[in-house]
Amino acid sequence: MIKVNNLISIVVPVYNESESIKLLINEIFYVMDSHKLQFELIIVNDGSVDNTINVLENLSKKIKQLIVINLRKNYGQTAALAAGFDNSNGEIIVTLDGDLQNDPNDIPNLITKINEGYDLICGWRFERKDKLINRRIPSKIANRLIGKVTGIFLHDYGCSLKAFKREIIKDIKLYGELHRFLPVLANIEGAKIKETKVNHRKRKYGYSKYGIDRTFRVLMDLLTVWFMNKFLTRPMYVFGFIGIISIISSFIISSYLIVLKFLGENIGNRPLLMFALILGIAGVQLFSFGLLGELLMRTYHESQNRPIYRVRNIIQNTNN
Ligand code: UDP
Ligand code: MG
Repeated sequence: MIKVNNLISIVVPVYNESESIKLLINEIFYVMDSHKLQFELIIVNDGSVDNTINVLENLSKKIKQLIVINLRKNYGQTAALAAGFDNSNGEIIVTLDGDLQNDPNDIPNLITKINEGYDLICGWRFERKDKLINRRIPSKIANRLIGKVTGIFLHDYGCSLKAFKREIIKDIKLYGELHRFLPVLANIEGAKIKETKVNHRKRKYGYSKYGIDRTFRVLMDLLTVWFMNKFLTRPMYVFGFIGIISIISSFIISSYLIVLKFLGENIGNRPLLMFALILGIAGVQLFSFGLLGELLMRTYHESQNRPIYRVRNIIQNTNN
């Protein structure tokens, strides 16, 4: 028996999942009730164009713990998750997909692990039920690459089933499609992270919202995250350093050319002169970039929080 006094928030982003959503809600209630876990279920409707919102509205009339956040349009999974996080009250936040591919039976185990003192528990779909060529292979490569670049080796960055402590979530700002990099962002905030094997099921209803093109976006996001992980708080270290090296090299080459000039040589048509000029200009620019970066970084950290989504309405049954 798991002992938790604190509320658990379960956050599920959904986009066109009208067939799965009712079954998923039933499964979640069954699991949470049988483990006597106190929870709220936050379903974020990410601008679905099918019947999803009607199904959710009807269910919310009957179910007290269900909170439906209805976004104005389709913002993507990351923004939908962020909306769920911002509207949650629990001390522990569990995320999973709305397509029944994640198994709610894994939730109690995740919570036990969080109570062992971790800030983030990541699911690992060790027997993944997705297509090999366009899913499992690119994902395997991506997981390796992300591990190498960020230093945080996880088997399965793409698994949505995760559990977070609230303190960690409230410090993380999500943009683009960065939800895949939540463990890296959590690590930037100093989180204690562990992964645990979870069940994975085939998609029975609806269709996957992503194609192979997401690989490219993951690579771009990886660059952003790498930069944030390494240099967010010290842009001057990168740009300033390269800038200074460049300026010094330019100075040395120019001095050499000036000496040659005084010795009577014609330096006007030497490629080296061009090189010194470019190094000098590039150096000054890089150095200024570094300074600007420092200013931007301060604004980034100190400016007020602006959400990346707009909520149309929040549906919740307030009758007892
Ligand atoms: N999703 C969303 N907004 C989107 C795309 C997806 O809220 O723009 C939700 C989707 O309904 C599902 C989860 O994000 O609950 C994961 O999407 P999907 O199952 O299509 O991804 P896959 O499992 O194929 O990687
Ligand atoms: Mg899925």
